[in-house]
Amino acid sequence: MTSHLVTGIGELVTFDPTHPGPLGLLTDAALVVQDGRIAWTGPTGSAPACDARTDVAGAAVLPGFVDPHTHLVFDGDRSAEFEARASGARYTGGGIAVTVAATRAADDETLRANLHRLAAEARAQGTTTLEIKSGYGLDVVTEQRLLRLAAEVTSEVTFLGAHVVPQGVDRAAYLDLVTGPMLTACAPLARWADVFCEPASPVAFDEDESRAVLLAAARAGLGLRVHGNQLGFGPGARLAVELGAASVDHCTYLSDADVAALADAAPHGGPVATLLPGVELSTRSPFPDARRLLDAGVEVALATDCNPGTCFSTSMPLMIALAVSAMRMTVAEAVRAATLGAAHALRRDDVGHLRIGARADLCVLDAPSHRHLAYRPGVPLARTLEIAGGVGE
Ligand SMILES: [Zn+2]
Repeated sequence: MTSHLVTGIGELVTFDPTHPGPLGLLTDAALVVQDGRIAWTGPTGSAPACDARTDVAGAAVLPGFVDPHTHLVFDGDRSAEFEARASGARYTGGGIAVTVAATRAADDETLRANLHRLAAEARAQGTTTLEIKSGYGLDVVTEQRLLRLAAEVTSEVTFLGAHVVPQGVDRAAYLDLVTGPMLTACAPLARWADVFCEPASPVAFDEDESRAVLLAAARAGLGLRVHGNQLGFGPGARLAVELGAASVDHCTYLSDADVAALADAAPHGGPVATLLPGVELSTRSPFPDARRLLDAGVEVALATDCNPGTCFSTSMPLMIALAVSAMRMTVAEAVRAATLGAAHALRRDDVGHLRIGARADLCVLDAPSHRHLAYRPGVPLARTLEIAGGVGE
């Protein structure tokens, strides 16, 4: 049993209610890691003796970021589509077919190299927990390949066979596949299932189809997540509430009834509203109204949605900066949404905070305060703090 003392923490964000403020903030702080878990946090002056010691010289330390929505297993490049959209073309979800073709054609080594490069890129920016979806295979064999590869990087693996109806396939036949044989083959390889519920897109799924996908997934033992309300008003958020999903993601177009349904469900473990402002940045779309959700009492998470079509960024610090600058969240709300809120979106209580017993997943900033994450957008301040003897994932 090795204990490790981290000292010289200029500012420590813990979310421990025994420490001050909504962030459980300590200054001139230290923490102790034992067996990969947080064993103690407090003022430097009262830190216990330990076997090993790291001094961070006045830096801010936070819980590692939790990115609860990514699509990291794919091949192919869509920078030309991005450029076309930047010249005025509108996003409809149709470009997903380009990635599906490239991903099906790629061998495992290529997909693995892409995935591990992106996961390392996220980690280098302070992300310590990643959710990763399939959804660029859309046939049984390729969806299974993508889920197995994702599991090399994380336990938060999501089956997204219902990403879009693949080109040249009958809708009803595909729905039968994704709720039948494909689900049976993929459910043992995933923790979650997700659906692109978006009647505004000709390739995504409407309310009845999405409900069928989610009900079948729940029967197969998977937790539920929903892509909803991204391109227009729709049933995604209400369906997430109705079926007890952990999260509804995007939430760009919400009616008053949607917000009320999310707020009513919030005290009973209802869906977290996961906002993906990198998508709005990259597609020049209106940002979600985060204030309306927060003011109604809905838990908000931030995620990158890292994917080759609509947001090719792994940077949680960028999402925090966007949340503050473009979605009028406070800095504290944005930091919480990128850590504790995001952990709740994955129904995890061991990450996203630094209370006693949490995983020692630490993010250290080349800055004295968490405020710099929003104050210095685009500057690479955040990195993962490696402590020997972590519990690993
Ligand atoms: Zn997505």
